[in-house]
Amino acid sequence: MTPTPHGKIMLVGIGPGNVEHMTQRARSAIEEADVVIGYVTYIKLVADLVEGKEVIRKSMTEELDRAVSALEAARQGKKVALISSGDAGVYGMAGPTYEVLFQAGWTPEDPVQVEIIPGASALNSCAALVGAPLTHDFCAISLSDLLTPWPTIARRLDAVAMADFVVALYNPKSGRRTRQIVEAQRLFLRHRRADTPVAIVKSGYRRRQKIVFTTLDSMADADIGMLSTVLIGNSNTFVRHGLMVTPRGYANKYDMADGGSTREGERPGRSLSTGLLGWLELVKLEHAEGADVATLALRHRLPQDYIASVLAAPDEAVEAETSPEEDVA
Ligand code: SAH
Repeated sequence: MTPTPHGKIMLVGIGPGNVEHMTQRARSAIEEADVVIGYVTYIKLVADLVEGKEVIRKSMTEELDRAVSALEAARQGKKVALISSGDAGVYGMAGPTYEVLFQAGWTPEDPVQVEIIPGASALNSCAALVGAPLTHDFCAISLSDLLTPWPTIARRLDAVAMADFVVALYNPKSGRRTRQIVEAQRLFLRHRRADTPVAIVKSGYRRRQKIVFTTLDSMADADIGMLSTVLIGNSNTFVRHGLMVTPRGYANKYDMADGGSTREGERPGRSLSTGLLGWLELVKLEHAEGADVATLALRHRLPQDYIASVLAAPDEAVEAETSPEEDVA
């Protein structure tokens, strides 16, 4: 294949690891490439596309080398595809690649172009396999302490467990890292019910796919490995007919049993009565009725200085809600 005059680095997210779940652009980027760099398992997945190309197989721990090799080849005018599973920007090669590029003096004006090709990340694919667990606020936390200090990871686990996020745990366990998932469970149990639903997806959309439903108090005993993603529900998540579902919140506004009629005090297309403005009115009323800042902070589980500052803020915002909102429901 003839090298293009200007090289290019393409960071290709190939999805969970099955050809059907790769995007068109991921395929065409690999087809377009002169050089394909990636972890052996992922190269195997796209074996049909890499025939006749220069292929650089690297192991997990050689991420920076991979980025350096990509830059060297691109400087020679080659198009390089760096393959990541899932999305290249989610615990993938996109970050390390930009770091290496910046270190080498690269800027967006450089003749070497960079394109990031998004892919379905493990949390998307694993969620799709178990139902609809991410329909409300969620976050991802990697339990890998290879590059992140444990107190940082633990602090994040504690914060999101307290804040009732649905959580996807990446890199939950490996041959050498077995204690992290136990500690994650310990931190979560301080804030969440023992029977909080947990789904463990191993090798999603791959040949050895395995899905297990369990609960927070038993999750550390489950079969978890390098290729597993652990999905922990929030306080409203439930499992029915083998499907894990996190309610979107429609039941707060509509009576689901009653054919979907709007609940008293609520209006379609407007914030909930307990949305920001309704809540501000309530806090002010409670304050006027004698509840002090400390009591209100405890009652609403928010910091005292935040409660104090909303009480001190001028009232005008309350009258500002005259136009309908853009979001539905
Ligand atoms: N860039 C990838 C994540 C790489 S970190 C992405 O966006 O998905 C590696 C971790 O991703 C694994 O430890 C596992 O937690 C998760 N993972 C990747 N592929 C998976 C799959 N097919 N099934 C389940 N989990 C997967």
